[in-house]
Amino acid sequence: MSRVRTEEEKAAARAASKEALKRKWELEQEENRSAHETYMREALRQAKRAAALGETPIGCVIVHEGKIIGRGYNRRNTDKSTLAHAEITAIRKACRALGDWRLEDCALYVTLEPCQMCAGAIVQARIPEVFIGCMNAKAGCAGSVYNLLEEPAFNHQAKVCRGVLEEECSRMMKVFFRDLRLRLKTSVEEAVPEKSRDKRMNE
Ligand SMILES: [Zn+2]
Repeated sequence: MSRVRTEEEKAAARAASKEALKRKWELEQEENRSAHETYMREALRQAKRAAALGETPIGCVIVHEGKIIGRGYNRRNTDKSTLAHAEITAIRKACRALGDWRLEDCALYVTLEPCQMCAGAIVQARIPEVFIGCMNAKAGCAGSVYNLLEEPAFNHQAKVCRGVLEEECSRMMKVFFRDLRLRLKTSVEEAVPEKSRDKRMNE
């Protein structure tokens, strides 16, 4: 005769089946990898537009029924706006395209792990699937600092697939920051005349 399961056992069984579904979804995404890479390349193209403006290269696209309905890239300095992140712009455009604040049948592709503001907006927009290029250990909120996208206490959780074109996405960031450091170094050297630099070095 089977024994009545305790509440703990029921909760453990629920968690296990949720985990199994998540794993199944991840495996399915692996099979669709080439399609996801195609959209991530579009997000990388957006990121390049940010880099051309001297902005940290982050790009995002939102896909609905196989079609890109929202694009965005980081314009924080250009627009002098905290809100000018790639994901927020892409969400705004996608909402306009669908005429709805809910983006329920959409997938979001972003080159860098979203920050707390963008992860919050993704949850608010009920976006069900998020594909991330590279992670952001110091500020990411899809698993690095926090995991707002998969927080079970919220009323909505997104499924998250990480590491799509990871190398390309992370290389883009590295090259940008390397060039930025070089530019800063050059401008410091130009600002301080050589003579005074020599003098200071001899002091
Ligand atoms: Zn953000």
